[in-house]
Amino acid sequence: MRILLVEDEPEMASTLLAALKRRQVVVDHAPNLADALAIAELGTYDAIVLDRRLPDGEGLDLIPKLRAMRITAPVLMLTALGALDDRVAGLDAGADDYLTKPFAVEELMARLRALRRRAVVSQANHAIVGQLTFDFEHCEALVSEKVLDLPRRELLVLEALMRRPERTVLRATLEEHVYALGDEIGSNALDAHMSRLRRKLDEADAGVEIRAIRNLGYLLRAVE
Ligand code: CA
Repeated sequence: MRILLVEDEPEMASTLLAALKRRQVVVDHAPNLADALAIAELGTYDAIVLDRRLPDGEGLDLIPKLRAMRITAPVLMLTALGALDDRVAGLDAGADDYLTKPFAVEELMARLRALRRRAVVSQANHAIVGQLTFDFEHCEALVSEKVLDLPRRELLVLEALMRRPERTVLRATLEEHVYALGDEIGSNALDAHMSRLRRKLDEADAGVEIRAIRNLGYLLRAVE
């Protein structure tokens, strides 16, 4: 897991950095909003852990800027502002989760894992699993902001899997998604699309795997 920690208090930041590193989390650190934005643009993160009171402004203001740059990593707000109104403001501003200081590192870890598991959808028209983003609006698959060059049927198969990450998608559903009525479908056509798609996702380091669920269908999930 790779996260961006946006936190200005040095003691809090160094404690968290050490604790997360011990738990095999790769952490980049930004002490203010300007650095956070610059770093977020360079890397691909499973989550952004964001303080609210920062030297150059309010953490919440970062979220719309990230989304405008098509950075879709889920945002977990981390803050001493724990009153109900503040939590509601955070969630309304587009934060995916909210944790109030003081907190246990174990709870932060559990929430980060949950965010990643949900393979989230930080905007309704995107899904993210591993390093792979699917833009449903434009029907594009991206790894590290780069559009993958996939033929239409592989793209459609991938779309169907990304609509329901970590769940088995039935063969019939996949075929329905990819083929028009009346199209001639060879008995192993779907499997052939799937194996080409797997190879391309591997080559692109998409951080996902497509598992065949015997006699049922396929499932896409993030690789640990
Ligand atoms: Ca602060």
